[in-house]
Amino acid sequence: MPGRIGRRCGITFIRNSRHEAFSLATSPPNCPVKALQLISPKPIEANPLKAHNIEIPEPGNLDVLIRVDSCGLCHTDLHVIEGELPPKKSPITPGHQVIGVIERVGPGVSGRAIGERVGVAWLHWTCGECAWCRRGEENLCERALFTGYDVDGGYAEYVKAPGNFVYPIPSGFTSQEAAPLMCAGIIGFRSLRLSGVKPGERLGLFGFGASAHIAIQVARYWGCEVFVFSRSAEHRKFAEQLGAAWTGSSEDVPPGTLDAAISFAPAGDLVPNALKVLRRGGTLALAGIYMTPIPAFDYGLLYHERKITSIANSTRQDGFDFLKLAGEIPVRTETEIFTLTEANRGLQRLKSGKIRGAGVLSLKR
Ligand SMILES: [Zn+2]
Ligand SMILES: [Zn+2]
Repeated sequence: MPGRIGRRCGITFIRNSRHEAFSLATSPPNCPVKALQLISPKPIEANPLKAHNIEIPEPGNLDVLIRVDSCGLCHTDLHVIEGELPPKKSPITPGHQVIGVIERVGPGVSGRAIGERVGVAWLHWTCGECAWCRRGEENLCERALFTGYDVDGGYAEYVKAPGNFVYPIPSGFTSQEAAPLMCAGIIGFRSLRLSGVKPGERLGLFGFGASAHIAIQVARYWGCEVFVFSRSAEHRKFAEQLGAAWTGSSEDVPPGTLDAAISFAPAGDLVPNALKVLRRGGTLALAGIYMTPIPAFDYGLLYHERKITSIANSTRQDGFDFLKLAGEIPVRTETEIFTLTEANRGLQRLKSGKIRGAGVLSLKR
């Protein structure tokens, strides 16, 4: 008879009947794993994220448990860590651009399988019942929960998420390449949609970080002429390499007016500048979750049916549509890789605009 001879990290080691080999049987894992946690908001320069050993999360009936391969760094993480967004949970593990492999599937989950590679985005859960959910605007759900803000996110070796809020990842991307698609990519895509830009039109992008470097690839694929405004000479050069027709600083005036514009920068004083170069009837989409105050400006900048819209989260449909398109184009993400415990340093580089493309934590073992 096989006999149990030891147990480590939830795995039971069993000697076979001829005592010549071992087989493994898995049981619910309970081994401590690493997670980077924030106790209370602080400037990122104070290295507020600390590595702690936590229990592997226990997936609920409708959850999947994911072993994290990579997690992208996002400006929203900085807003959570530095307190521009009011704290929701302490301690909190940030991170909402997660790519990993499903290790366990809750009994109530359908359509997901152990071993499947999936992504987790900012939208963790919506109620499915409120007026917005029923209208197909679940991104506006009043009871929505967000990954790495209301619930623990992907700056950790394991994360759990509802099985119907995770996304299959196209096979053409490594996990590190795919991580920035999950927020930078999806939010950029929703911003493009809500900006109303049509194929072949003239699009302005203000700020050229992780999101814009993906959005420009989608816009170019649609045949748009893209005008990029950034204070960073490095980022302007990067935009030109990705096909920008023109680059300048936010005060510069491009040749001709823009049909649509997106601001990815959390700086409210860019709004009047963007309106100055927008055509009549054009839309300015503000992609950030946080923005410094917008200064007063002349009504003439808005008149002639120019529109300003914010972008609040994204729907699952945005995610599915974008990931499919990203695989078709294919989008190429440029990443700077950090280990899990280098998250503070990575976010410091993000804050100071030093990252070209997107910062990603890699947990590849
Ligand atoms: Zn709802
Ligand atoms: Zn994000």
